[in-house]
Amino acid sequence: MKYDVIIIGAGISGASLAYKASKYAKTLLIESQDYDREIPVRTNIFAEHNKPFIDDVFWNDDSIFPRPFLQLNFKSDKYDGLLNSKEFDRPLGKISHTEIFIKKLIDKFKDQGGTTKYNEKVAKVVKHIDYVEVVNNKGESYTAKLLILATGSRGFDLQKSLGFETPDSFMGIYTNTYADESLLDENFNFQYMFHLNPNISPNGPFFFNVGKGRVSTGYLGNKESPDQLREKLERILRNYKKIQPFIKGLKWDGNFITGGISKHPISTMTKDRVIVLGEAAGVVTGFFYEGLLGGLASADIAAKLIKPLLENNSNFSRPELIMYDQEIARILLNGYFRNGAACELLFYSNDSSAKTLWTTYTNLLNTNKTVRKYIYEAHIIQDLWNYDTNRDRYVGERLFGALPGFQKLTLWPKFLKAMSK
Ligand SMILES: Cc1cc2nc3c(=O)[nH]c(=O)nc-3n(C[C@H](O)[C@H](O)[C@H](O)COP(=O)(O)OP(=O)(O)OC[C@H]3O[C@@H](n4cnc5c(N)ncnc54)[C@H](O)[C@@H]3O)c2cc1C
Repeated sequence: MKYDVIIIGAGISGASLAYKASKYAKTLLIESQDYDREIPVRTNIFAEHNKPFIDDVFWNDDSIFPRPFLQLNFKSDKYDGLLNSKEFDRPLGKISHTEIFIKKLIDKFKDQGGTTKYNEKVAKVVKHIDYVEVVNNKGESYTAKLLILATGSRGFDLQKSLGFETPDSFMGIYTNTYADESLLDENFNFQYMFHLNPNISPNGPFFFNVGKGRVSTGYLGNKESPDQLREKLERILRNYKKIQPFIKGLKWDGNFITGGISKHPISTMTKDRVIVLGEAAGVVTGFFYEGLLGGLASADIAAKLIKPLLENNSNFSRPELIMYDQEIARILLNGYFRNGAACELLFYSNDSSAKTLWTTYTNLLNTNKTVRKYIYEAHIIQDLWNYDTNRDRYVGERLFGALPGFQKLTLWPKFLKAMSK
């Protein structure tokens, strides 16, 4: 058998695991896109709570993380709910040029002896008793002791063929707009903005995230085609009055990226000789568009589990891999992810309650320092496994308390449900 581990997919999840696993395992990384030509530009936001899952050599690299993430704006029609990290003690995180991060992870992976195959789409996986065989679209095959699916939302057919569930996903779109730093400083007093307007989308907020020299902007759609999503985003950028001050003078290159964002984790992320990482496993908080955390954390958990199993000549059977599912639940799903699930339940709706809730929430941010502190802490906290959901409960109770009287009557069942998430 040629490899210990084959990883399919070189997004943040696959590239991160490739880097970590190649320190002790013979590893192959397969990617269907042509990374020799270009690694596609990603969005820019990287919360501080990602830090435990990456090595300092990357964290301290200014070409990957060119600016601090200092301010977050929850914007409604009425209020700019501005969360300024200067009110507390350190930034909310970093601005990440994630495609550079992926490139540097893969460079180190290769230095450590890892092998890459680009422009090869895996068409089929055959599981044998004591190894897995991966067949690409040219009919070539590779074998390994363990297979990792890090295929994001674009490998669901393959995932299903191996007997895994696939997460339901929203279709999102973003484009990058460009300007020099001085204009960006003039136009934006935040690095990340959420603006919920059910007319744009009932599924998630419109966003801007401000990188260095570039701004990603987009929204989550639902069942629209990529063309419909693109036309709508162009219309919004040209005509939507509320955002015109931000995009004044910015240029965009017509390159629109559509991609799925998973709604919920799948229930089983391991089977004999196979582990599913990141977006493919649905380890994403859809409401916050946050998938880097799930990708990095799941890669870290897998890397720690695989090493002793390899040393002990494991069969990589499901009982030996189940600790992966348990660790994902312990570190992410049982605490921090409940926050995203509750927010989603409260704010995702296309009726008028979404707008009232959002307006009340943005005002609460302006007026209540404890609410600001808890949202700040959700970004910076390092031991996510100790995440205290009482903070979310506090914010939820304050939000309910600040609603107009008649809305309290109609919305209390929704709050009760969110609190029990
Ligand atoms: C509009 C939008 C905005 C977002 N903003 C943010 C943000 O600011 N911060 C944040 O943390 N997250 C954000 N996310 C989410 C985040 O980008 C993703 O969750 C994350 O990048 C997923 O990483 P991944 O490695 O799991 O999957 P992917 O990045 O999707 O990587 C999977 C890779 O597998 C390859 N592949 C698939 N099938 C095959 C196959 N059969 N053979 C070979 N290769 C295959 C694909 O080509 C792809 O490169 C956003 C998502 C969207 C849609």
